Amino acid sequence: MTQKVVVIGAGVIGITTALDLQRRGHSVLVLDRGDAATQASAGNAGAFAFPEVEPLATPGILRKAPKWLLDPLGPLSIPPAYALQILPWMVRFLRASRSDRYASLLSAQVSLMKLSSTALNRLIASVDAEPLLQRDGQMQLYESEAEFQASLPTWTLRRDHGIEFELLDSREAIAEKQPGLSPRFTHAGYTPNWMNTVDPEKWVAHLAQSFRDRGGRIETQDIRALSPANDGIKIAFGDGHVDASKVIVCAGAWSHHLARTLGDHIPLETERGYNTTLPAGTFDLRMHLTFSRHGFVASRINNGVRIGGAVELGGLNLPPNYRRADTLLTKAKQFLPGLKTEGGTQWMGFRPSMPDSIPVVGPSPKSARVIYAFGHGHLGLTQSAGTAELVGALVDGQPNPIAMTPYSPNRF
Ligand SMILES: Cc1cc2nc3c(=O)[nH]c(=O)nc-3n(C[C@H](O)[C@H](O)[C@H](O)COP(=O)(O)OP(=O)(O)OC[C@H]3O[C@@H](n4cnc5c(N)ncnc54)[C@H](O)[C@@H]3O)c2cc1C
Repeated sequence: MTQKVVVIGAGVIGITTALDLQRRGHSVLVLDRGDAATQASAGNAGAFAFPEVEPLATPGILRKAPKWLLDPLGPLSIPPAYALQILPWMVRFLRASRSDRYASLLSAQVSLMKLSSTALNRLIASVDAEPLLQRDGQMQLYESEAEFQASLPTWTLRRDHGIEFELLDSREAIAEKQPGLSPRFTHAGYTPNWMNTVDPEKWVAHLAQSFRDRGGRIETQDIRALSPANDGIKIAFGDGHVDASKVIVCAGAWSHHLARTLGDHIPLETERGYNTTLPAGTFDLRMHLTFSRHGFVASRINNGVRIGGAVELGGLNLPPNYRRADTLLTKAKQFLPGLKTEGGTQWMGFRPSMPDSIPVVGPSPKSARVIYAFGHGHLGLTQSAGTAELVGALVDGQPNPIAMTPYSPNRF
């Protein structure tokens, strides 16, 4: 069987990409070992976080990380059982955070964010997705004048890149936007144009349904390997294969396994994250809240509240440690004293993360017929629409709207 374009992975990156390819006139088949949105794309915080332009690998990170690592349930952890395996990725991460690399990584992040923001508007219009959005803004909270002052370079950076915001320097100003916060928060930055989806799982399900309604197919297959075939690429699964003229690999945190079967070695790792989703009526959350010092957020999901974040560099196979989700919920109760913490559902997800915080979007060095689109880390939902348009242009051999070198699969 020959398919023109096959997309591997039905997360937010794969489905958004499939829709864009379909819009361009391609016949597209999506393959996933599960349904649409079963992994990171299902349980994330639901934010289109366009103001978050700063890469994680920043020159200041070395000062903060050791403090975080001291607390085994803190914002960043490395389970001892995975410490050796993660070492090469950590070394690359630290190299990327050097000040001589920072300017180019920031510029790559900003370009993809700007493209993704405009591409998202095109996507919303094309699939009637407005009812799935909450345009309530976001507030980033600080607990002291000193913490607020330390955040100002980030706000200056945002201003330099045209991001609208308002800085709040009193408890009263904060309470006007979000009643019910602990008085420990003395300062905040408010970004009015921040958006969330009502539920990231519903978001992908809606896109997947639009894709199907327009003739697209999503089938269940656990892909084992990719290899060049006569006039295309052979995609092997359990008891058979599909041939494609182009393959787009959007397999999230598992993508490097597929790349390796083709001979490409890409340093993808996972930053595991945790959350608890509380039912409707839990708290009157007016907008997305970010508790940056503590590495977690509160977002409204289906009128309930999702409390989540944390980074655990624990690979794909270790069992989840749900004490992390418990810890975040305990802290959230201190920060939002009226929060009802009963009846929640816990979740762990695999962020697909590159050591320089920039995703891979580009052709495989081994075969121009395979295009990689993965490694979006904390920002996969946010950057999905822009990524889809970049892949579409690559498939059609058109000029890309932004310079592609920073996203190249062989940049390491
Ligand atoms: C706690 C948490 C909060 C987050 N909050 C946000 C947020 O607010 N905003 C934001 O922008 N991002 C957020 N993210 C990040 C975001 O969720 C991810 O970047 C994004 O979902 C990645 O999408 P993806 O399609 O690349 O991967 P996934 O959603 O993981 O999808 C990959 C798909 O590939 C399939 N697959 C893998 N291997 C194979 C194979 N061999 N054969 C067949 N199928 C395969 C999987 O089954 C899966 O369906 C968050 C992440 C976490 C963990």
